[in-house]
Amino acid sequence: MKERREAGREPERKRAYKNKGNAKKRADQKPASLESEKKEKREIKVKRSACPYSAKCGGCTMIDLPMEEQLAKKKAWVEECVGAFGPVEPVVRTKNPYRYRNKVTSVFGLDRKGHPVCGVYRRGSREIVPVKDCLIENKRADEIVQDIYGLLASFKLRVYDPATGFGTVKAVQIRTAHVTGEILVTIVTAGPVFPSRNNFSKELVRLHPEITSIVQNIKDNDSSMILGTREKVLYGRGFITDELCGRKFRISSRSFYQVNSLQTEKLYNIAIDAAGLTGKERILDAYCGIGTIGICAADRAKEVLSVELNADAAQDADANVRLNGLANVTVYAEDAGRFMQEMAAQKESADVLFMDPPRSGSTEEFLEAALVMRPSKIVYISCNPKTLGRDLKVLTEGGYRMKKAVPVDMFPFVEDVETVCLLCR
Ligand code: SAH
Repeated sequence: MKERREAGREPERKRAYKNKGNAKKRADQKPASLESEKKEKREIKVKRSACPYSAKCGGCTMIDLPMEEQLAKKKAWVEECVGAFGPVEPVVRTKNPYRYRNKVTSVFGLDRKGHPVCGVYRRGSREIVPVKDCLIENKRADEIVQDIYGLLASFKLRVYDPATGFGTVKAVQIRTAHVTGEILVTIVTAGPVFPSRNNFSKELVRLHPEITSIVQNIKDNDSSMILGTREKVLYGRGFITDELCGRKFRISSRSFYQVNSLQTEKLYNIAIDAAGLTGKERILDAYCGIGTIGICAADRAKEVLSVELNADAAQDADANVRLNGLANVTVYAEDAGRFMQEMAAQKESADVLFMDPPRSGSTEEFLEAALVMRPSKIVYISCNPKTLGRDLKVLTEGGYRMKKAVPVDMFPFVEDVETVCLLCR
């Protein structure tokens, strides 16, 4: 299963976003100016980052840039990747650039001295930077992580040590529902054994009554994914329910869900409005996650077919169709490329194709089938302008024109930018 790499933790590219050297060394410096150089250095030292972890964490590479500059850089990046295909609109900004992440993940392990720590991996390494409080994460979630960490000793639980294979806890993921306030805690363990798990859960809920569910996730391999595939519900229903665009959504720990709820509503509205639905259309919502886009568009269309590879997400999507009492949405748990090929082979089509693939973009198989099916409109939603540009090249060579690209700032202080593209034949 491919998983969408999320914004904020390990930026994969080094681009023009880096601050260009204000601390250039001058080899020909004369002693006379030494004093002023010292003063300059003192001034540089005084200018602290807004985030005490920024130098080590490497997530928010734009934490100290004014918002206007961040947006200008994001717009330029989208222009560079897709500007050749059509007009790029200004970036849709957010009123609330802090604490937007509704999903918080903290890895647990040992520091160099062998002390237990929790936080984030240092950029490009497996060293854990002990982050207690993050400016882009939900505050309550950060507090819960710290309390879980604090409870370990009293329950004689150890963090997992990959060097020896001893210990229990590998990571914690907290999901907070923006509207309902429900909270899902997922505790990732190295194996099925989790001593005192019931008492541990009870104590955690006593400390944080706002927690509505706790899940144990078992990850018994060394892959780079945070979560394993097996789960056991320790408390509550095993998922949370949130609201978006007036619809209800059930979200479980392993399903994809956009991390910035406030901006997601804008993103979906832009995407659905771009499709210009009249109520008569057959919609295909590819890479649908828990079914959000198709479900939000359902009352403006005749029929919605939603397709998703991750079985848990597809199950959530199916539950969400029922939760919203929709009779015109069907969810298929399949590879989107294969699904499209099958549809094309059966001479089936759709009027509007929404596609929202992971960072790696879509596939040849998918795009080829889309060009056979020839929907009147394609609304491509992407979190990676680079793969978006690559895929737009295929679609435009296949007869589509890009009407507009609308970048949306879903990840303030982080390099990533989301883009909605409307393509017509
Ligand atoms: N549209 C959703 C999800 C977007 S994230 C939303 O807005 O929330 C991309 C989704 O594509 C993830 O849920 C991921 O599991 C799914 N995915 C990844 N590869 C896939 C594939 N080959 N076929 C179908 N879905 C896939």
